[in-house]
Amino acid sequence: MNKNSKNYNDAFRKIQQAENIVITSHKSPDGDSLGSSLGLFNFIKKVNANVSVCHPDQAPEFFHWLEDFHEIKLYQNNKNGVEDLVKNADLIFCLDYNSFDRLGNDFGAIVQNSRAEKILIDHHQGPTITSLVSISDTSIASTSEMIFELIFQSQNLHLLDVTIAQYLYLGIMTDTGSFRFPSVSFRTHEIISELLKTGLNHAEIHEHIYDSNTIDRLKLKSFAIVEKLEMLSDYPIGIITITRAELEQFNYKKGDTEGLVNTILSVEKVMIAAIFIEHDEGIKISFRSKGNYYVNELAHKYFQGGGHKYAAGGFSSETLDQVVNRFKELVNGGFYA
Ligand code: 5GP
Ligand code: MN
Repeated sequence: MNKNSKNYNDAFRKIQQAENIVITSHKSPDGDSLGSSLGLFNFIKKVNANVSVCHPDQAPEFFHWLEDFHEIKLYQNNKNGVEDLVKNADLIFCLDYNSFDRLGNDFGAIVQNSRAEKILIDHHQGPTITSLVSISDTSIASTSEMIFELIFQSQNLHLLDVTIAQYLYLGIMTDTGSFRFPSVSFRTHEIISELLKTGLNHAEIHEHIYDSNTIDRLKLKSFAIVEKLEMLSDYPIGIITITRAELEQFNYKKGDTEGLVNTILSVEKVMIAAIFIEHDEGIKISFRSKGNYYVNELAHKYFQGGGHKYAAGGFSSETLDQVVNRFKELVNGGFYA
């Protein structure tokens, strides 16, 4: 029996009783935030009528093929409309995030202060969200897997259809690096097997996500690897920095640097990968790691961020040089000794 079985059943009962349900997930959407949100959205539509998905901002173009992409209400584009939906909700799902600031400060405060009961379903460490039902499990590879468990544990597997399945597959595929990260379990594969039974075209989902490079994006990534990759001489660490001017040179669009940090980790012996990208609002940082090297503490303590053991991110208002130098000082100071 699943250790969260009671919580999943409580969550399902709340879904049945609620009048207006809102599903939220973190800013800078990824496959898991979109997959878990839209999978749950389609499940709830089968058991209760009023449900909407409200996200802080828009997903990159390589997600625009999603059937329900235009069903997602964006706080960024429609502040009043989304605020009204949240204020009228009596049940809010918080998916794939562990603190309200992951929604951005304004939208985060609106959700936090709403009268609605909250249900947290997340796999990040240290949840800070007070909720009626809290299902937080860092051992699970993706929030989309947890949405499957909600459907399964509440005896609703018969309601799983190909639409729900394609969203959950997307979330599981992207958060597991296509089923290769240590967080993948036998249960992950059991779940994938159930998803495939619906007639899901899994190859198409891989193609949409991994074979949809624009020429500009491919050139930007290639440039970053050829010209900007730096291997630290005394440590198993590789870093890439990208300036705003370099982004502009390749007509940067949101999502174009997605996955680049993982490419650094593909170099033999590299255990930690870091990428520092200069955007208008500041430096966005991504960390990835392997083995006994963890990056979430580094991101949380020193770079205003957080994440998982092997995939974390952060932010800095320093210049690119300053933040990279600070990272190198942390390494030289023994952070990864
Ligand atoms: P990415 O490097 O793909 O942007 O993010 C990897 C993971 O790090 C995400 O799944 C998320 O958990 C975490 N993460 C990224 N940026 C932030 C941030 O600014 N704050 C926090 N708390 N976590 C972040
Ligand atoms: Mn996730």
